[in-house]
Amino acid sequence: MFSEAVVVHWGKLLDGSPELGPVNAQVDWDWRHLLMRRHSAAHLLDYSLAQVVGHDAVTLDSWLGDPCYVAYRGDPPSQDQFAQIEKVENETVTRGGVIQARQVAADEVHSSFSDSPNLERLPSRKQLRLVTIEGCRPIACSGTHLHDISEAGGIKVKRLEKIPEGFRIRFDLE
Ligand SMILES: [Zn+2]
Repeated sequence: MFSEAVVVHWGKLLDGSPELGPVNAQVDWDWRHLLMRRHSAAHLLDYSLAQVVGHDAVTLDSWLGDPCYVAYRGDPPSQDQFAQIEKVENETVTRGGVIQARQVAADEVHSSFSDSPNLERLPSRKQLRLVTIEGCRPIACSGTHLHDISEAGGIKVKRLEKIPEGFRIRFDLE
């Protein structure tokens, strides 16, 4: 996490006890890249769902471990619509599209990008990071993304589950 001029890392202590001093860190690239692919595919899932049902769906939460899902508020899509989501997503992945991120003043996000999904879930910051998958609307997000959505490779939309506040879409990469 980047906060003002400080980069904060956090992790899980697997054994021993923490000591003050220099720390050696290493990125588990295979796992990291998988999360980047799943996370970018999850953004595209938001877009694909919106395309199919004709309006934005507010996300409640998501999980990128096994098995992945994104949860949305409101009524679930019909079975016909659900079947279309994977098709729309994979068409975009096949076509490809650059994913760009830029820092934007929070005020500008709220005024100029008021239709950006999930505005009410944003942290209180002076600057926010606006991420755009080419052809999709920008979304404020601090996660890790691919350079191009084609790197996701392909998505399998697996199951629709109802939850009290709405529904979950379980998915994974092909
Ligand atoms: Zn993101």
